[in-house]
Amino acid sequence: MKILVLNCGSSSFKYQLIDMNGEVVLAKGLVERIGIGGSKIKHVKTGIEPVSREVDFSNHTVAIKYVLDMLTDPEYGVLKNLSELSAVGHRIVHGGEKFTKSVLVTPEVISAIEEVIPLAPLHNPANIQGVRALMEVLPNTPNVVVFDTAFHQTMPPKAYMYGIQYKYYEEDRVRRYGFHGTSHFYVANRAAEILGKPIESLKIVTCHLGNGSSITAVDDGKSVDTSLGYGTAEGIIMGTRSGNLDPSVMVFLMEKLKDPKLVNEEVQKKSGLQGISGISSDLRDIEKAAEDGNERAKLAQDMLVYDVKKYIGSYSAGMGGIDALVFTAGIGENGISFREEVCKGLEFMGIKIDSEKNKVRGQEVVFSTPDSRVAVMVIPTDEEMVIARDTKRCCGA
Ligand code: ADP
Repeated sequence: MKILVLNCGSSSFKYQLIDMNGEVVLAKGLVERIGIGGSKIKHVKTGIEPVSREVDFSNHTVAIKYVLDMLTDPEYGVLKNLSELSAVGHRIVHGGEKFTKSVLVTPEVISAIEEVIPLAPLHNPANIQGVRALMEVLPNTPNVVVFDTAFHQTMPPKAYMYGIQYKYYEEDRVRRYGFHGTSHFYVANRAAEILGKPIESLKIVTCHLGNGSSITAVDDGKSVDTSLGYGTAEGIIMGTRSGNLDPSVMVFLMEKLKDPKLVNEEVQKKSGLQGISGISSDLRDIEKAAEDGNERAKLAQDMLVYDVKKYIGSYSAGMGGIDALVFTAGIGENGISFREEVCKGLEFMGIKIDSEKNKVRGQEVVFSTPDSRVAVMVIPTDEEMVIARDTKRCCGA
């Protein structure tokens, strides 16, 4: 069974063609600048040199047709014809409270995704565009939607409610939703597999740390709390997002900037590592500048480490213990000194790491010592594989 996985943004999308027989990625690629001029595609057939081309993609449908041509191309393709493609899995950012798991696309499902557009005004419309384009180009191929929020729908009300008047939940659905759910699900389950224990027996803290970051408490295989909330700026300090703020700071910013759009831009795009350091949103640049003596870069680095430590502590307290701590995504998978700094001082919680074993980038490793009570791990995330597996399951295969 061959499945195409699509992760569609407003002007770009990523794709992977996965053979579920052995879970092998046959091809993948990235299409950028759709409809805004200068559009291009980078296509990689596993095992051969990538191809990059500048092609005029006026909309998503045109770009998807081109990708399907690439996938059936005699030289760069991996399919004899499109009838070999069994289904398409789509990443959808927001499923609101309605979607607790992945589902086969029907007209009702599309309407329900549209209903939650107010909760994800930038992402959901772009995600749906991909589904519609596929339905237009391949009307007989089933589509499945997989939601970033679905894994977190197991959170209890005490974790997902905010302490404002209840009517804002009842009338406007203001609550914590959480994001990066497929990633947290994947690494938590992979951690249990690596440890050879049933996930139901483990309390796990998963740290998905990239440009956008979230930390999740996984108890009994279920998300019981997560640091991203109603929107995508809560929790720890991120590349350009503020992380937690006293509500009074939001009121201050509203009074000072006088425009909710500007306040949103401030906390989403001008804050975080970028805003504190004034240098970059990229932790590599921050670490280098801090090493060279830049104090604001050092402060940004220290704030990130401290935020992550605090979440590990609070989620362990919330769950009544911790058996495994997992790092994933750009910073989590590659930040060797960052991981070392986070774990430093957590020995009191049973976290003891082996600095030599920690010296890996982008590969699975358990880097705690044999006598550490908590298994500390790096697990590269694989959201596409979760989407492909769910797609297969929803198609009854
Ligand atoms: P996104 O959230 O956009 O998917 P990624 O998961 O790709 O982001 O993470 C990107 C971040 O990973 C970069 O901003 C950078 O800070 C971090 N990163 C990548 N490599 C390293 C490294 N070697 N050391 C520290 N941080 C790194």
